[in-house]
Amino acid sequence: MAEMIGILEGREGQVYEKRQDGPEIDIACDTKSLSGSVSQRACVFCGSRVVLYPVADAIHIVHGPIGCAAYTWDIRGAVSSGPELHRLSFSTDLQEMDVIYGGEKKLYRSLVELIDQYQPNAAFIYSTCIIGLIGDDIDAVCKKVAKEKGIPVMPVHSEGFKGTKKDGYKAACSALMKLIGTGPTEGISKYSINILGEFNLAGEAWIIREYYEKMGIEVVATMTGDGRIDAIRRSHGASLNVVQCSGSMTSLAKDMEEKYGIPYIRVSYFGFEDMSKSLYDVAALFPDRPEIMKRAKEIVRDEIRKYYPEMQKFKAALTGKKAAIYVGGAFKTFSLIKALRTIGMSVVLAGSQTGNKDDYRRLKEMCQEGTVIVDDSNPVELSKFVLEKEADLLIGGVKERPIAFKLGVGFCDHNHERKIPLAGFVGMYNFAKEVYESVMSPVWQFAPRKGGLR
Ligand code: SF4
Repeated sequence: MAEMIGILEGREGQVYEKRQDGPEIDIACDTKSLSGSVSQRACVFCGSRVVLYPVADAIHIVHGPIGCAAYTWDIRGAVSSGPELHRLSFSTDLQEMDVIYGGEKKLYRSLVELIDQYQPNAAFIYSTCIIGLIGDDIDAVCKKVAKEKGIPVMPVHSEGFKGTKKDGYKAACSALMKLIGTGPTEGISKYSINILGEFNLAGEAWIIREYYEKMGIEVVATMTGDGRIDAIRRSHGASLNVVQCSGSMTSLAKDMEEKYGIPYIRVSYFGFEDMSKSLYDVAALFPDRPEIMKRAKEIVRDEIRKYYPEMQKFKAALTGKKAAIYVGGAFKTFSLIKALRTIGMSVVLAGSQTGNKDDYRRLKEMCQEGTVIVDDSNPVELSKFVLEKEADLLIGGVKERPIAFKLGVGFCDHNHERKIPLAGFVGMYNFAKEVYESVMSPVWQFAPRKGGLR
């Protein structure tokens, strides 16, 4: 069946199969999605929304038709230790008359009403496609309301059509950058960091924060998981930015380096190997306090000792099974490949929505012969490769879940909708358990692919 599924004309350059005698990898990426391909990738507006969504003490207003708000309502489900304003979705619900006469007045009225009602510490206003077309001056409205209400009101220039999801990340980072530097930095330790690109979907930011705090490091702000406006405003007082999810937050780290001289490192909190490295790498940057490294080693030793025996049980069952990975950022794919190896699994498909050429070159180095590497894929292609490579598991997000289940293979959600933390040492254990339970489920014997019910 897989051979009956072709690759769409115009998509060939974004698909690569690693072969010993094959050409060098030169994947076309960082481009707009092919029209009609039903890309799994989201629009610019959605990109900005996923980055800013977890800021919990701000209101988020989608300026546009109700569909844009519905599309991203509670998109991350990110958890908060305090206020939960982020879980509400506000929209100016633009109608035909607003499109003709402009939506600025409606935006102004909505902002004033919502700020009075919810008393947030800031407001984010997202531009959608239609705003780019009718040309509402959201900057002017934001400025006016900020002055009247005395809180930051941040325009997010994220018109859906103007680029790729990555441009939405940049729009979100620009909005954050306007907040950073506006709070006091007195009392911040020299041994301090900001955690960037961790969105606290299921409590991961708390796990990571605890590791660093146990090491003796102060965490000034997490951006944006369990995010707070005041912490973001003073985050320029930290000594180091630690960036996970590099696709979404590297631009912010670079801007902070340029403006405030704060260096940054890229890390991943997924899998024993990368989690340990992310602690050691941070500790190594504070050499004048050796006890930080000592505590990092103790954390790694204790945590691995706790989870390793159970992991062996999963590995015994999963050894030889094959996984297909299709996630948002390529950096996550690197960690997933390593983590899957820890439990005996190989990778037959590795793809991302927003990888760049360097990411794909590195992916090629990490993957075995025959692995398909793909950029900005679509359901038809993913189905083809899952079937062709006989994968036992698909790792992706909510849009990939039905593909896996329709094809009769296990699935692991490594995106917005997961409800169990997959970061940190405990996260690796959770991941292995989830993969084990899904791949080894007896239900797959009834799938047509395995010769079951038809
Ligand atoms: S911003 Fe544009 S592309 Fe994005 S959801 Fe709204 S209408 Fe669709």
